This record gives sequence, C-alpha cells and structure tokens, in this order.
Amino acid sequence: MPIYEYKCNDCQCIFEQIKSITDTSAPACPQCNSEKTTRQLSPVNSLCDKLKSIANKGSRFT
Ligand SMILES: [Zn+2]
Repeated sequence: MPIYEYKCNDCQCIFEQIKSITDTSAPACPQCNSEKTTRQLSPVNSLCDKLKSIANKGSRFT
C-alpha cells in the first residue's frame, strides 16, 4: 500500500500514513488528534519530529 503524507491544519504537523488507494478518508493527526488533515500532493521532507526540533531551536521554518 502507498504511503501518503498529510498535514494537520490545526498544529501544522506533517505525518505519514499508509493507506489503501481506495481509502480517501482523512486520518486523524497523531499529535493533536485533529481530523482537519489534508493530503500533501507533493513529497515533503519535514516530519513532526523535525518540525519540533526546529521549533525548539527558536527558528521558524521557511
Ligand atoms: Zn495536529
């Protein structure tokens, strides 16, 4: 099954989800449990943990 990348609209977390190609429902955010997630059409390089480590250094990702 393919791995899709999703972005949470609430906490801006980006996470990967393995889903069936026929399953188009949005998964809940693993970080804040929000269901306001959108599938990323292009690959992204940042995952939740990376975003957090960047935030902890005090610099905003650009
Ligand atoms: Zn979230």
